[in-house]
Amino acid sequence: MSLSPPAQPGQSFAEIDTPALILDLDAFERNLVAMAAFTQAHGVRLRPHAKTHKSPQIALLQIAHGAVGQCCQKVSEAEVLVNGGVGDVLVTNEIVGPGKLDRLAKLARNARIGLCVDHPEGVREAAEAAARHDVILDILVELDVGGRRCGVAPGEAVRIAEMVARSNTLRFSGLQAYHGSAQHMRSIDERREAVERAGLLARTAADKLAHAGLGCEIISGAGTGTHELESQSGIWNEIQAGSYIFMDADYARNRQADGTPFRTFEHSLFVLTSVMSKPVPDRAVVDAGHKAAAIDSGLPTPWQRDGVVYTKPSDEHGVLTGDPIALPHRGDKVLLVPGHCDPTVNLHDWYVCVRGLNSPDAHVETLWPVAGRGALT
Ligand code: PLP
Ligand code: MN
Repeated sequence: MSLSPPAQPGQSFAEIDTPALILDLDAFERNLVAMAAFTQAHGVRLRPHAKTHKSPQIALLQIAHGAVGQCCQKVSEAEVLVNGGVGDVLVTNEIVGPGKLDRLAKLARNARIGLCVDHPEGVREAAEAAARHDVILDILVELDVGGRRCGVAPGEAVRIAEMVARSNTLRFSGLQAYHGSAQHMRSIDERREAVERAGLLARTAADKLAHAGLGCEIISGAGTGTHELESQSGIWNEIQAGSYIFMDADYARNRQADGTPFRTFEHSLFVLTSVMSKPVPDRAVVDAGHKAAAIDSGLPTPWQRDGVVYTKPSDEHGVLTGDPIALPHRGDKVLLVPGHCDPTVNLHDWYVCVRGLNSPDAHVETLWPVAGRGALT
């Protein structure tokens, strides 16, 4: 038995069942346009990250707005994207073993497919998989630019790039230079310093590649938290931001800490929840717990409800507290801004796409499946 979606196209906003993942189409479309305009104005390619949305529909809209393709983290996400019509996918990750690499190489029959490597064995395995399936795979060699996760130092990156360039089935495309831990640093000064240091490493690697006679077409990286800095650096030429289409409470805290108005991107992603119990006047219990909104980057925040705070998430409950006058009543619905957008999306089967969210005729325009929900392999 398949589960019924929380809404149907054409229904009014009031008819949406809860908990539901709500996409404010108007804000979402403004975010799409804003990032496309920003990257175009700075002469950098936009390759948005699909780990955020896991949706071919959203990927194709980003590409229609000028994105060169998509990034993803997992082979299964790449499968969902290519099956959904996306023609250019970069897996911004190291992929180990013939099982996964065979799946990726098969996709390269129908799309341009890239992946990251940071070890000579990774080069050999990718080259062999590409040969087995008679395809060419694009390779970015991953630098550790400060995140201390995957990636190597510039000298080692050049040695790996030389191996890639010698292979008949791989195309050396450039460098993966993503600084993950810089994205959510609270102050713009900390982020600037982190990206400057990352840029020095990327430039060093590019210089060494040139010295070795290797062209470096792409230097890719950046997320929503730092994309302005990489775009203005003159070093990166491809931007991988993902969260900008939705935003979340944690990214909003970054912007507030910057002291600048939250101007570039708007919240477009919400979890709609209902008050299921109000046993005492200062406690409204809602039907969205941490199975409906991820809490790894902080709790969700009630949207446009001053004086109301979301607390005590359990599996299926959350507790709204605060000013008793402002608290909603039994049966009322409340929009929550998730603390972290990407894992929140992965908790839901459907985007309930709402037009005119803040207007009296707010209604469900369409539903999009979270097609890559649970795509972990
Ligand atoms: N690029 C890579 C390699 C990532 O891992 C991520 C997110 O973790 C992003 C880009 C996108 O970051 P954000 O969603 O913060 O824009
Ligand atoms: Mn994230």
